[in-house]
Amino acid sequence: MIEQTRKARKGSPRPEVSADGWLAGARVCRSPNRDARPDADDISLLVIHNISLPPGRFGGPYIDQLFSNTLDPAAHPYFATIHALRVSSHLLIARDGRVTQYVPFGERAWHAGVSVYEGRERCNDFSIGIELEGTDDKPFTAKQYAQLARVTRSLLRAYPRLSAARIAGHSDIAPGRKTDPGPHFDWRRYRSSL
Ligand SMILES: [Zn+2]
Repeated sequence: MIEQTRKARKGSPRPEVSADGWLAGARVCRSPNRDARPDADDISLLVIHNISLPPGRFGGPYIDQLFSNTLDPAAHPYFATIHALRVSSHLLIARDGRVTQYVPFGERAWHAGVSVYEGRERCNDFSIGIELEGTDDKPFTAKQYAQLARVTRSLLRAYPRLSAARIAGHSDIAPGRKTDPGPHFDWRRYRSSL
């Protein structure tokens, strides 16, 4: 009831999700690094990541380029080590809170890699990946938390198999291999905002 009221309220700033899996209001930068989910109806996990390119530097076109397979290996020494990766996420939330979508939610983005959640492998099959622009050693911004809360609430409404309990960090589903979103990501703040 409360949700319906909120949804119907005029001028609500909350983004919503289209039937074909695009978040209203997000900038779109389509990634070729995507394919079909084995079960298109099974969207039941949210995975939180962090990324910055080069590591620790914010802004710039490099995340878009990485997810578009156009990163110039000569532009930075680190890029030479990653430019051939074929990766993507569904969403990126930049330091200023702006959202970019690379893959529609109904398709599989390539963000989790080798992973397991509650005994089930290949988390890309059934998850939505959200990248926060950041690093393991710096706090995220208030605008990022606010936007992440808005986006998460929209996704929880759009995909009933998701729930507040089914949200994990990349480090939770790929322990020993991945460390993001890192110790500065405030899970309590995030969860209490949902
Ligand atoms: Zn990650």
